[in-house]
Parts: sequence; C-alpha cells; structure tokens
Amino acid sequence: MISEAARCVKCGLCLAGCPTYQLSAIETMSPRGRIALVQALSQGQLAVDDYSHEVLGSCLLCRRCEAVCPSAVPFGALMDRGRELVRSRQGWKERLAIALLSRRVWMRLLARIGKAALPKATPLGKMLTQTRFDAPEPEELRRPRGTRTVGRVGLFTGCTGSLFDSVALEGATELLLQAGYEVQIPRGQACCGALDAHGGNAKRAARLLSINEVAFASAGELEAVVSIASGCGAQLAGYPALGGKHRDVCAFLAQGRVISRLRFRPLEKRAAVHLPCTLENVLHGGEAVLQLLERIPGLQIEVVGKKGECCGAGGTALLLRPEMAGKLRQPFVQRLGELSPDYVLSSNISCRLHLQAGADTAGVQFMHPVTLLAQQLIRG
Ligand code: SF4
Ligand code: SF4
Repeated sequence: MISEAARCVKCGLCLAGCPTYQLSAIETMSPRGRIALVQALSQGQLAVDDYSHEVLGSCLLCRRCEAVCPSAVPFGALMDRGRELVRSRQGWKERLAIALLSRRVWMRLLARIGKAALPKATPLGKMLTQTRFDAPEPEELRRPRGTRTVGRVGLFTGCTGSLFDSVALEGATELLLQAGYEVQIPRGQACCGALDAHGGNAKRAARLLSINEVAFASAGELEAVVSIASGCGAQLAGYPALGGKHRDVCAFLAQGRVISRLRFRPLEKRAAVHLPCTLENVLHGGEAVLQLLERIPGLQIEVVGKKGECCGAGGTALLLRPEMAGKLRQPFVQRLGELSPDYVLSSNISCRLHLQAGADTAGVQFMHPVTLLAQQLIRG
C-alpha cells in the first residue's frame, strides 16, 4: 500500500480543492503533504508525534483529492494506513467516540440517554425524540405485492441508519418493492467498519468486513447490495467480495430498467439537495440522486455546494473538531438561507444533522432523498 504513495508526482492539482489546505494554507495539511508524511512515517524517517497525529487526524476523508488526482493515488486507503501508524497518539475522546459510534448496542444506549437529557429544540434532540427504540426489526425478506418479481437485492442497514434513519430504510425498501425487487435484510450484518478503518483500527475493520461478507453471501443470489448512507457506501464499495455488487440506493434506482417502473405524485415545492463528498468523490452517485428527484413533477431542485465539497461533517471533524466543521459548513448554510427551501435532502445522516444544526430550520424538513421519493411514490 505504501508503495502506492510513490505514484504521487507532487503536481499539486489536488491542493485547490482540499478544505483543510484552504483553511490553513499549510502544505502539511494538504493531500500532497499528508502523503509525504505517511511515506516518511512508514519508512521510519519521522517519528510518530502529536503533530503527525493532528495532520492525519484532521483530514476529512472527503477524498476530493483522490477524485482529481491524475496519478490515481488511492488516498483513502493511504490515509487509513497513516491513521493506523499514528493511532498510539489518539486521545481518550477520539477512542471513545469511535468505540461508541461503531457499536450498535452502545450507540442505542447513548441515544436513550441523549433522548432523555438533550433539549428537544436541538437537531440531535429532535432526531432522538423521533427515534423509536421499540420499533420492530425489519423483516428479513420482503416480497413485492401484486407485481412480477424481477430480482432480489440485499439492503445494508448500517449502525446509524438502523437507529436514526429507519424512515429512509423503509422508504428505500418501498421503492425497491415497487420496482419489483425482493429485499433481503440479513440479520447477521454489522457496522460497515468505516469508523474503525478511519480511526486506525484495521483489525476490527477487517473483522466487520468479513461478518458483512458472510451475512450477504448467505442471502441468496443478489443482483446488488444497496446502502442508503454514502459514508457507509464508500466503505462497502471497497469490500473485495462485495465491491462489485455494492450500489448506492439512488444509483440502483436510477437505472433505466428500474426507474421506468416507478411513478411519483406531483409536488409543487422547492428542494435544496446536498450531495455528500463521499457520494460524489467515491461513489460518483450525485447525478443519480438528481435524476430520481427530477421524476417528481413540479419539484424545484437546487444543488447546494460545489461538486465534491465537504460540508465539514467528514471524518471525525463533527465530533472532535467542531470549530473547523462549523467554518466549512458556513457557505452551505448561507446558500440554504438564500434558497429558503421546503426540503433539504442529503444522502448522509451526519451531513444532514450537521447542516440542520447550523441552518435556520423553521419550516424546513431535512431528509434522505429516498424518504421524499417514497412519500411521493404512486403505489400499486
Ligand atoms: S493530484 Fe495526485 S499526484 Fe498530484 S500532488 Fe495530489 S496526490 Fe500527488
Ligand atoms: S481527503 Fe479531503 S481533507 Fe483529506 S486531504 Fe483529501 S481533499 Fe483534503
């Protein structure tokens, strides 16, 4: 993997789009600087210290650099390796955040405490108020009613998705059923492993990967494994046994033979669409979201933010570097204020929460694009 770093020809084409370089104007805080640092650390030319941990830990993992790199340097994988090297310098807050957010049971417990303690007016408090801890587990296999079955897909729920975005999971399921697909939701699936991989815990990330590969391998012949959160999707796309089959839910639904089976009721409203960096830079799925939303007659669609730009919620910035996360969010919030939309749609729950926390949200509904599509779906 480290040999891949040698592909970097130091052209600097990635610098202009890197949010941490734009904020700091420091070479080490750029993709090129980080690649050089990972090389130096792995070859023993530099010792691991707090500064190297900060340089690598502050990367948002938006992978905008990777998307523009002419040498195809696999920046995401290099950064995971770099974070493994500096893991010994992680503070307790970082360790705790990663441990809590990647374990469904702990997150559920934390969410219950937050629901009781957080003011309901805050975005997180509002979301927790709507979280049903007694909601039944989704059925493992759902079959389309009264429609010819055209195939079967696996649905990846994720640890945050199953707890906080069950509405989007249900919406995705309804759209897939209406398009004629059986939806298999294997019970044995686990967290995608992104948080552990990005936190330098390669061993746990590999363990989660193999749990998920086994869970989906036992789900029968699947045309695709779809996920709703682009952050999870970016991780699943790199699974050796799943990579080729993984699709973001919107990319799957937007395929001509699938979308042709879906009809939507008109909606004379305005939607601001946020296309997360992981969706654009890794999954290349932004266009599919727009194609789907354009099928809702009357819906006005405005994209918020530049292509592949991170809103500040990337990596662990939202939890551990709130000041930087807030600065990067500002242009998005300003644009939302100018647009005054009825809906803000984003495929990643952490981006959605982050934007909701910063925007004037009176009368605005924040949701996953598939939630709005399912709301307008003509069934039957
Ligand atoms: S664009 Fe690619 S090759 Fe050029 S400096 Fe950035 S990482 Fe290196
Ligand atoms: S992943 Fe994003 S934040 Fe990290 S170096 Fe690349 S462009 Fe910069």
